[in-house]
Amino acid sequence: VGERKYLIGGNWKSNGTYDENAERIKVFNGLGPIPDNVEVVLCVPYLHIPLCLTSLRDDIEVGGQDCGSNVKDGAYTGEIGAHMLKDIGCTWVIVGHSERREGFGMAGEPEGLCAEKCKVALDKGLKVMFAIGEKKEERESGVTMEVCAKQLEPLAKLLKPEEWANVAIAYEPVWAIGTGLTATPEMAQATHADIRKWMKDNVSEDVAKAIRIQYGGSMKGANAEELLKQPDIDGGLIGGASLKDDFFNVINGVP
Ligand code: PEP
Repeated sequence: VGERKYLIGGNWKSNGTYDENAERIKVFNGLGPIPDNVEVVLCVPYLHIPLCLTSLRDDIEVGGQDCGSNVKDGAYTGEIGAHMLKDIGCTWVIVGHSERREGFGMAGEPEGLCAEKCKVALDKGLKVMFAIGEKKEERESGVTMEVCAKQLEPLAKLLKPEEWANVAIAYEPVWAIGTGLTATPEMAQATHADIRKWMKDNVSEDVAKAIRIQYGGSMKGANAEELLKQPDIDGGLIGGASLKDDFFNVINGVP
């Protein structure tokens, strides 16, 4: 991986009562050390962010799972702005998760909005895990990279090259999220290499070399090591397994 530090993100999604998540924090606090070459961030439900900030071990950062596109306070009922996440003490936010792009049966978030949210979050001083990825039928019809490029293009238009320093790309094939199906290490590596090449051709060679590309999609202790040893896989974004102590097997799966 060269100088790229591994980035392991956990995504608790909409899971857990206050007490259940307090218990998860207790479990994580009692687990072993985090290797020096790994950065770990846990993205938890908004309501439990203060709990994590005050009681989760210091070597795990805390992030949001989404943010609004609003740049400041105002009449945006229900939105949590990036400036609010930053103010409370978060350092990261996930933007463009496929569940939000799809919209759980409601209107989803188009590519342009995801790019806009990412830009606002960066402007407010957060780091962003920008999630992209193709659906099953898109992979089957051979358009995986076209789909990823379409999701990255609006962001490449909005960001100055130096702003990419605070972005990680989370490549998450939609068909692998929460399904138990994982891309094979070879399949994931091939797409990560394509994404890095796209970054080289469309942003810059330096950004392409430096940017961390995480894999997401049913990653767990049992498959993390094989995925993380691929040259272009610089970490993971982990849903289901981040709710359990298996999250630490993923962290310890880094080479
Ligand atoms: C995710 O939510 O980003 C994810 C990859 O979920 P899971 O690990 O459960 O597939």
